[in-house]
Amino acid sequence: MVGFHQARRPRQTTGARLRRELSWPRPAGVLISLLGAALIFNGAVALADSTDASVVSVASSSPSLNTTPVTSQALVAPADPASTAPASAPSSATATATVSPDLAVSGVTAAPIAPVTTPPVLLVKGSVAGAPVQKLFAARTATAAAGDKTVLDVFNPKSTLVLVNKRNALKPLAHVPADLVTPAVAVGSGEPGLLRAEAASAAERMFGAAAAQGVSITLMSSYRSYDTQVGLYNGYAAEKGAEAADTTSAHPGFSEHQTGLAIDIGDGKAGNACDFRSCSAETAAAQWVAAHGADYGFLVRYLTGSEAVTGYWAEPWHLRYVGVEVAQDVVALGIPTYEEYLGLPGAPGYK
Ligand SMILES: [Zn+2]
Repeated sequence: MVGFHQARRPRQTTGARLRRELSWPRPAGVLISLLGAALIFNGAVALADSTDASVVSVASSSPSLNTTPVTSQALVAPADPASTAPASAPSSATATATVSPDLAVSGVTAAPIAPVTTPPVLLVKGSVAGAPVQKLFAARTATAAAGDKTVLDVFNPKSTLVLVNKRNALKPLAHVPADLVTPAVAVGSGEPGLLRAEAASAAERMFGAAAAQGVSITLMSSYRSYDTQVGLYNGYAAEKGAEAADTTSAHPGFSEHQTGLAIDIGDGKAGNACDFRSCSAETAAAQWVAAHGADYGFLVRYLTGSEAVTGYWAEPWHLRYVGVEVAQDVVALGIPTYEEYLGLPGAPGYK
Protein backbone atom coordinates (compact mmCIF):
# COMPACT_ATOMS: atom_id res chain seq x y z
CA MET A 1 0.00 0.00 0.00
CA VAL A 2 2.97 2.32 0.47
CA GLY A 3 3.63 2.40 -3.22
CA PHE A 4 -0.03 2.96 -3.86
CA HIS A 5 -0.13 5.91 -1.52
CA GLN A 6 2.98 7.41 -2.99
CA ALA A 7 1.50 7.03 -6.42
CA ARG A 8 -1.56 8.85 -5.19
CA ARG A 9 0.28 11.79 -3.68
CA PRO A 10 -1.43 15.00 -4.73
CA ARG A 11 -0.53 16.20 -8.14
CA GLN A 12 -1.25 19.75 -9.18
CA THR A 13 -4.53 18.79 -10.76
CA THR A 14 -5.53 16.91 -7.64
CA GLY A 15 -4.73 19.92 -5.49
CA ALA A 16 -6.71 22.14 -7.80
CA ARG A 17 -9.61 19.74 -7.56
CA LEU A 18 -9.56 19.55 -3.81
CA ARG A 19 -9.39 23.30 -3.51
CA ARG A 20 -12.67 23.30 -5.37
CA GLU A 21 -14.19 20.77 -3.02
CA LEU A 22 -14.36 23.62 -0.60
CA SER A 23 -15.83 23.95 2.80
CA TRP A 24 -18.76 26.29 3.08
CA PRO A 25 -19.40 28.84 5.82
CA ARG A 26 -22.20 27.77 8.14
CA PRO A 27 -25.37 29.80 7.44
CA ALA A 28 -27.07 29.28 10.76
CA GLY A 29 -30.49 30.33 9.55
CA VAL A 30 -30.62 27.71 6.85
CA LEU A 31 -29.36 25.04 9.19
CA ILE A 32 -32.06 25.89 11.67
CA SER A 33 -34.66 25.66 8.91
CA LEU A 34 -33.36 22.26 7.94
CA LEU A 35 -33.35 21.07 11.52
CA GLY A 36 -36.96 22.20 11.71
CA ALA A 37 -37.71 20.20 8.62
CA ALA A 38 -36.04 17.20 10.13
CA LEU A 39 -38.20 17.47 13.23
CA ILE A 40 -41.28 17.22 11.05
CA PHE A 41 -40.29 13.63 10.60
CA ASN A 42 -41.47 12.92 14.17
CA GLY A 43 -38.03 13.84 15.51
CA ALA A 44 -37.36 10.20 16.20
CA VAL A 45 -34.47 8.04 15.18
CA ALA A 46 -35.74 4.68 14.13
CA LEU A 47 -33.47 1.71 14.28
CA ALA A 48 -34.29 -1.65 12.86
CA ASP A 49 -32.12 -4.71 12.83
CA SER A 50 -31.56 -5.17 9.14
CA THR A 51 -31.32 -8.90 9.59
CA ASP A 52 -34.76 -9.12 11.15
CA ALA A 53 -37.27 -6.62 9.92
CA SER A 54 -39.72 -7.45 12.68
CA VAL A 55 -37.34 -6.27 15.38
CA VAL A 56 -37.63 -2.57 15.96
CA SER A 57 -35.56 -0.87 18.58
CA VAL A 58 -34.46 2.60 19.47
CA ALA A 59 -31.20 4.10 20.54
CA SER A 60 -30.13 7.54 21.57
CA SER A 61 -26.61 7.09 20.32
CA SER A 62 -27.07 8.64 16.91
CA PRO A 63 -24.29 11.19 16.59
CA SER A 64 -26.50 13.68 14.83
CA LEU A 65 -29.67 13.38 16.87
CA ASN A 66 -28.53 12.23 20.26
CA THR A 67 -30.34 15.02 22.04
CA THR A 68 -33.69 14.16 20.55
CA PRO A 69 -35.95 12.28 22.94
CA VAL A 70 -37.31 9.14 21.39
CA THR A 71 -39.79 6.56 22.57
CA SER A 72 -40.20 3.02 21.48
CA GLN A 73 -43.94 3.56 21.36
CA ALA A 74 -43.58 6.13 18.61
CA LEU A 75 -41.69 3.64 16.50
CA VAL A 76 -43.52 0.41 17.17
CA ALA A 77 -46.94 2.00 16.83
CA PRO A 78 -46.60 4.98 14.50
CA ALA A 79 -49.28 7.64 14.88
CA ASP A 80 -49.83 7.46 11.15
CA PRO A 81 -49.79 3.81 10.11
CA ALA A 82 -50.03 4.84 6.46
CA SER A 83 -46.55 6.28 6.74
CA THR A 84 -44.99 2.90 7.31
CA ALA A 85 -47.49 0.23 6.37
CA PRO A 86 -48.00 -1.08 2.86
CA ALA A 87 -51.18 0.25 1.30
CA SER A 88 -52.77 -3.18 1.16
CA ALA A 89 -52.38 -4.01 4.83
CA PRO A 90 -53.72 -4.85 7.28
CA SER A 91 -56.56 -6.51 5.39
CA SER A 92 -57.95 -8.30 8.46
CA ALA A 93 -58.68 -5.00 10.20
CA THR A 94 -60.53 -3.68 7.18
CA ALA A 95 -62.68 -6.77 6.96
CA THR A 96 -63.58 -6.64 10.64
CA ALA A 97 -64.55 -2.98 10.51
CA THR A 98 -66.86 -3.36 7.52
CA VAL A 99 -68.53 -6.64 8.47
CA SER A 100 -69.26 -6.09 12.15
CA PRO A 101 -71.90 -3.32 11.80
CA ASP A 102 -73.88 -5.39 9.29
CA LEU A 103 -73.87 -8.36 11.62
CA ALA A 104 -75.09 -6.19 14.48
CA VAL A 105 -78.01 -4.88 12.43
CA SER A 106 -79.11 -8.37 11.48
CA GLY A 107 -79.04 -9.49 15.07
CA VAL A 108 -76.13 -11.81 14.69
CA THR A 109 -73.57 -11.59 17.43
CA ALA A 110 -70.30 -10.35 16.05
CA ALA A 111 -67.24 -12.45 16.56
CA PRO A 112 -64.59 -10.96 18.85
CA ILE A 113 -62.39 -8.56 17.00
CA ALA A 114 -59.04 -10.12 16.41
CA PRO A 115 -56.05 -8.02 17.40
CA VAL A 116 -54.58 -6.20 14.44
CA THR A 117 -51.11 -7.41 13.68
CA THR A 118 -48.81 -4.77 12.29
CA PRO A 119 -46.93 -6.21 9.36
CA PRO A 120 -43.15 -6.23 9.61
CA VAL A 121 -41.74 -2.92 8.51
CA LEU A 122 -38.27 -2.67 7.07
CA LEU A 123 -36.89 0.50 8.54
CA VAL A 124 -33.61 2.17 7.75
CA LYS A 125 -31.36 2.41 10.77
CA GLY A 126 -30.09 5.88 11.49
CA SER A 127 -32.68 7.63 9.38
CA VAL A 128 -35.71 9.45 10.77
CA ALA A 129 -39.16 7.93 11.09
CA GLY A 130 -41.32 9.18 8.26
CA ALA A 131 -38.39 10.19 6.07
CA PRO A 132 -38.70 9.38 2.37
CA VAL A 133 -36.10 6.64 2.60
CA GLN A 134 -38.15 4.94 5.32
CA LYS A 135 -41.24 5.05 3.14
CA LEU A 136 -39.37 3.52 0.22
CA PHE A 137 -38.24 0.51 2.23
CA ALA A 138 -41.50 0.21 4.17
CA ALA A 139 -43.43 0.05 0.91
CA ARG A 140 -40.93 -2.46 -0.36
CA THR A 141 -41.92 -4.96 2.33
CA ALA A 142 -44.98 -5.84 0.26
CA THR A 143 -42.81 -7.08 -2.55
CA ALA A 144 -39.37 -7.51 -1.01
CA ALA A 145 -37.64 -10.70 -1.92
CA ALA A 146 -36.90 -12.98 0.97
CA GLY A 147 -33.27 -13.03 1.95
CA ASP A 148 -32.60 -9.45 0.99
CA LYS A 149 -29.12 -8.77 2.31
CA THR A 150 -29.23 -5.01 1.93
CA VAL A 151 -27.62 -3.31 4.91
CA LEU A 152 -30.12 -0.65 5.86
CA ASP A 153 -28.03 1.60 8.06
CA VAL A 154 -26.99 5.10 7.11
CA PHE A 155 -24.14 5.10 9.62
CA ASN A 156 -22.67 1.76 8.60
CA PRO A 157 -19.88 2.15 6.04
CA LYS A 158 -20.75 -1.29 4.68
CA SER A 159 -24.13 0.01 3.59
CA THR A 160 -24.58 1.60 0.19
CA LEU A 161 -26.90 3.97 2.07
CA VAL A 162 -24.07 5.32 4.25
CA LEU A 163 -24.21 9.06 4.86
CA VAL A 164 -20.88 10.85 4.96
CA ASN A 165 -20.69 14.60 5.36
CA LYS A 166 -19.14 17.18 7.67
CA ARG A 167 -21.38 16.10 10.56
CA ASN A 168 -21.00 12.40 9.97
CA ALA A 169 -17.57 10.87 9.59
CA LEU A 170 -17.00 7.30 8.62
CA LYS A 171 -16.89 4.93 11.57
CA PRO A 172 -14.23 3.80 12.01
CA LEU A 173 -12.50 6.91 10.77
CA ALA A 174 -9.92 4.92 8.82
CA HIS A 175 -12.49 2.57 7.30
CA VAL A 176 -11.33 0.71 4.20
CA PRO A 177 -13.97 -0.95 2.02
CA ALA A 178 -13.41 -4.69 1.78
CA ASP A 179 -14.49 -5.11 -1.82
CA LEU A 180 -12.60 -2.51 -3.83
CA VAL A 181 -12.15 -3.35 -7.49
CA THR A 182 -11.04 -1.48 -10.57
CA PRO A 183 -13.99 -0.68 -12.81
CA ALA A 184 -13.53 -1.26 -16.53
CA VAL A 185 -14.20 2.31 -17.56
CA ALA A 186 -12.35 5.07 -19.38
CA VAL A 187 -9.99 6.86 -17.01
CA GLY A 188 -9.22 10.53 -17.50
CA SER A 189 -6.60 11.11 -14.84
CA GLY A 190 -3.51 9.52 -13.42
CA GLU A 191 -5.37 8.13 -10.45
CA PRO A 192 -6.04 4.41 -10.31
CA GLY A 193 -9.78 3.79 -10.33
CA LEU A 194 -11.08 1.88 -7.32
CA LEU A 195 -14.68 1.40 -6.27
CA ARG A 196 -16.70 -1.02 -4.20
CA ALA A 197 -17.74 -3.91 -6.42
CA GLU A 198 -21.42 -2.97 -6.65
CA ALA A 199 -20.62 0.64 -7.53
CA ALA A 200 -17.97 -0.46 -10.01
CA SER A 201 -20.45 -2.63 -11.90
CA ALA A 202 -22.96 0.19 -11.91
CA ALA A 203 -20.32 2.62 -13.18
CA GLU A 204 -19.43 0.24 -16.00
CA ARG A 205 -23.07 0.05 -17.05
CA MET A 206 -23.50 3.83 -16.81
CA PHE A 207 -20.34 4.73 -18.71
CA GLY A 208 -21.26 2.13 -21.34
CA ALA A 209 -24.80 3.44 -21.77
CA ALA A 210 -23.50 6.98 -22.16
CA ALA A 211 -20.90 5.87 -24.68
CA ALA A 212 -23.61 4.13 -26.69
CA GLN A 213 -25.27 7.52 -26.96
CA GLY A 214 -22.06 9.25 -28.00
CA VAL A 215 -21.23 10.70 -24.59
CA SER A 216 -17.71 10.10 -23.32
CA ILE A 217 -17.64 9.96 -19.53
CA THR A 218 -14.21 9.55 -17.99
CA LEU A 219 -13.33 8.57 -14.45
CA MET A 220 -11.23 11.28 -12.81
CA SER A 221 -11.22 10.16 -9.19
CA SER A 222 -12.84 7.43 -7.14
CA TYR A 223 -11.79 5.77 -3.88
CA ARG A 224 -9.40 7.80 -1.76
CA SER A 225 -8.01 6.22 1.36
CA TYR A 226 -7.86 7.76 4.81
CA ASP A 227 -4.07 7.92 4.52
CA THR A 228 -4.32 9.75 1.22
CA GLN A 229 -6.61 12.29 2.83
CA VAL A 230 -4.26 12.67 5.80
CA GLY A 231 -1.46 13.51 3.39
CA LEU A 232 -3.59 15.96 1.46
CA TYR A 233 -4.91 17.69 4.58
CA ASN A 234 -1.49 17.90 6.23
CA GLY A 235 -0.08 19.35 3.05
CA TYR A 236 -2.65 22.13 3.13
CA ALA A 237 -2.11 22.69 6.85
CA ALA A 238 1.65 22.98 6.43
CA GLU A 239 1.16 25.42 3.61
CA LYS A 240 -1.64 27.60 4.97
CA GLY A 241 -2.21 26.69 8.60
CA ALA A 242 -4.86 24.44 10.06
CA GLU A 243 -7.63 27.02 10.00
CA ALA A 244 -7.24 27.69 6.31
CA ALA A 245 -6.78 24.00 5.63
CA ASP A 246 -10.17 23.34 7.19
CA THR A 247 -11.79 25.52 4.57
CA THR A 248 -10.11 23.89 1.60
CA SER A 249 -9.62 20.20 2.40
CA ALA A 250 -11.89 17.53 3.82
CA HIS A 251 -10.87 16.07 7.13
CA PRO A 252 -9.69 12.47 6.81
CA GLY A 253 -12.67 10.20 7.40
CA PHE A 254 -15.16 12.82 6.23
CA SER A 255 -14.85 12.34 2.47
CA GLU A 256 -17.43 10.40 0.46
CA HIS A 257 -14.56 9.17 -1.66
CA GLN A 258 -13.37 7.03 1.25
CA THR A 259 -16.60 4.99 1.04
CA GLY A 260 -15.62 3.59 -2.36
CA LEU A 261 -19.04 4.72 -3.56
CA ALA A 262 -18.19 8.16 -5.00
CA ILE A 263 -16.71 9.14 -8.32
CA ASP A 264 -15.63 12.34 -9.99
CA ILE A 265 -16.19 12.38 -13.72
CA GLY A 266 -14.83 14.27 -16.68
CA ASP A 267 -15.82 14.55 -20.32
CA GLY A 268 -13.51 12.72 -22.66
CA LYS A 269 -14.42 14.93 -25.60
CA ALA A 270 -14.45 18.30 -23.86
CA GLY A 271 -10.80 18.37 -22.84
CA ASN A 272 -9.64 19.11 -19.32
CA ALA A 273 -10.40 22.82 -19.07
CA CYS A 274 -13.56 22.24 -17.06
CA ASP A 275 -12.44 19.28 -14.97
CA PHE A 276 -13.48 19.91 -11.37
CA ARG A 277 -14.79 23.32 -12.30
CA SER A 278 -18.31 24.72 -12.35
CA CYS A 279 -18.22 24.95 -16.15
CA SER A 280 -18.21 21.15 -16.23
CA ALA A 281 -21.98 21.47 -15.74
CA GLU A 282 -22.15 22.41 -19.41
CA THR A 283 -20.36 19.30 -20.64
CA ALA A 284 -22.27 16.50 -22.29
CA ALA A 285 -21.00 14.05 -19.66
CA ALA A 286 -22.27 16.07 -16.69
CA GLN A 287 -25.60 16.69 -18.37
CA TRP A 288 -25.98 13.02 -19.21
CA VAL A 289 -25.33 11.86 -15.66
CA ALA A 290 -27.68 14.53 -14.30
CA ALA A 291 -30.42 13.10 -16.52
CA HIS A 292 -29.64 9.38 -16.36
CA GLY A 293 -27.30 8.74 -13.43
CA ALA A 294 -30.10 7.66 -11.10
CA ASP A 295 -31.03 4.86 -13.47
CA TYR A 296 -27.64 3.36 -12.59
CA GLY A 297 -27.81 4.20 -8.89
CA PHE A 298 -25.82 7.44 -8.92
CA LEU A 299 -26.86 10.83 -7.56
CA VAL A 300 -25.27 14.15 -8.38
CA ARG A 301 -24.55 14.74 -4.74
CA TYR A 302 -23.80 18.45 -4.47
CA LEU A 303 -26.27 20.63 -6.34
CA THR A 304 -26.45 24.37 -6.81
CA GLY A 305 -28.65 25.86 -4.10
CA SER A 306 -27.98 23.06 -1.61
CA GLU A 307 -24.62 24.29 -0.37
CA ALA A 308 -25.92 24.99 3.14
CA VAL A 309 -27.14 21.41 3.43
CA THR A 310 -24.33 19.47 1.80
CA GLY A 311 -21.49 21.71 2.97
CA TYR A 312 -20.04 21.85 -0.53
CA TRP A 313 -20.22 24.12 -3.49
CA ALA A 314 -22.08 22.58 -6.41
CA GLU A 315 -20.03 19.80 -7.97
CA PRO A 316 -21.62 18.62 -11.23
CA TRP A 317 -18.77 16.10 -11.50
CA HIS A 318 -19.18 14.36 -8.14
CA LEU A 319 -21.51 11.36 -8.13
CA ARG A 320 -22.46 9.12 -5.26
CA TYR A 321 -23.71 5.55 -5.66
CA VAL A 322 -26.70 4.76 -3.44
CA GLY A 323 -28.32 2.01 -5.50
CA VAL A 324 -30.85 2.28 -8.29
CA GLU A 325 -33.96 2.08 -6.11
CA VAL A 326 -32.90 4.88 -3.80
CA ALA A 327 -31.42 7.10 -6.50
CA GLN A 328 -34.54 6.88 -8.63
CA ASP A 329 -36.73 7.60 -5.60
CA VAL A 330 -34.70 10.69 -4.67
CA VAL A 331 -34.98 12.03 -8.20
CA ALA A 332 -38.66 11.12 -8.58
CA LEU A 333 -39.49 12.96 -5.36
CA GLY A 334 -37.46 15.98 -6.46
CA ILE A 335 -35.44 16.01 -3.24
CA PRO A 336 -32.19 17.88 -3.87
CA THR A 337 -29.99 16.37 -1.19
CA TYR A 338 -29.37 12.95 0.28
CA GLU A 339 -29.47 14.48 3.77
CA GLU A 340 -33.05 15.62 3.21
CA TYR A 341 -34.02 12.27 1.73
CA LEU A 342 -32.86 10.64 4.97
CA GLY A 343 -34.62 13.30 7.03
CA LEU A 344 -31.33 14.21 8.68
CA PRO A 345 -29.84 17.63 9.40
CA GLY A 346 -27.62 19.34 6.88
CA ALA A 347 -23.88 19.55 7.35
CA PRO A 348 -22.71 23.03 6.42
CA GLY A 349 -19.57 22.67 8.53
CA TYR A 350 -17.68 20.45 10.92
CA LYS A 351 -19.26 20.17 14.34
ZN1 LIG B 1 -15.59 14.12 -5.56
